[in-house]
Amino acid sequence: MAKIFCVANQKGGVGKTTTTVNLAAGLAKVGQRVLMVDLDPQGNATMGSGVDKRQMALSVYDVLLESASVAEAAVFSEKCGYHVLGANRELAGAEVELVEVERREKRLKTALAEVLDNYDFVLIDCPPSLSMLTLNGLCAAHGVIVPMQCEYFALEGLTDLVNTIKQVHANLNKDLAIIGLLRVMFDPRITLQQQVSDQLKAHFGDKVFDTVIPRNVRLAEAPSYGLPGVIFDPSARGSQAFVAFASEMVARIGKL
Ligand code: ADP
Ligand code: MG
Repeated sequence: MAKIFCVANQKGGVGKTTTTVNLAAGLAKVGQRVLMVDLDPQGNATMGSGVDKRQMALSVYDVLLESASVAEAAVFSEKCGYHVLGANRELAGAEVELVEVERREKRLKTALAEVLDNYDFVLIDCPPSLSMLTLNGLCAAHGVIVPMQCEYFALEGLTDLVNTIKQVHANLNKDLAIIGLLRVMFDPRITLQQQVSDQLKAHFGDKVFDTVIPRNVRLAEAPSYGLPGVIFDPSARGSQAFVAFASEMVARIGKL
């Protein structure tokens, strides 16, 4: 049975999509069966997994509106080694269309239940908001992975997300937990980053993943080739860090 994880942080540009696609590719590399779900209408995780968001016959939008199953809408990315349930601009409309329907926040959970035996991991890339789409991700998930940059306001920004997760846990999804905080785009030469990193560990203890993802230009270049860095340049430091992170996740799951 697959474990389902949301990669969430209501801030944009913090590394959610980079984390989702590289963790997916890293997990596939270490032999895990992975489904990557793109819940962001920007479709960056879709494109970054080698799937053209403009050419998709079916997407996560059709799944949320119950006009297609996950099995029908997901495609296998040969280059990346995992399945992709893609998103494009159409998904922005789902927000409005779901307002009227029953159990609207459980649509993704219900749809994923049918395919859980086919995968070891389902990773959900969330949009930079605490919207109905993110809520669908949080309702479906066992845990949340929070990528964050070690900057001055990082801890402050976490409060909203932590409160949302607590509310979802209390009212909608008893399984939900923060699995961990992932330090990304890390530059150890910057004293402030080192200080914030130490604060994070003091505050959140073992909720902070051991693996640290360095700032690495190869990770930023990879999406323009429609690939995760892990596939585009496996030898890059950032790629190696994501494969290490995949192994750390596999080890943690054993303890969940
Ligand atoms: P989000 O999904 O949270 O908006 P992205 O994953 O799209 O964030 O990352 C924002 C930008 O930062 C992108 O241009 C991405 O390529 C770049 N980026 C992310 N992680 C790294 C990293 N470890 N090193 C260098 N650039 C990175
Ligand atoms: Mg993104």
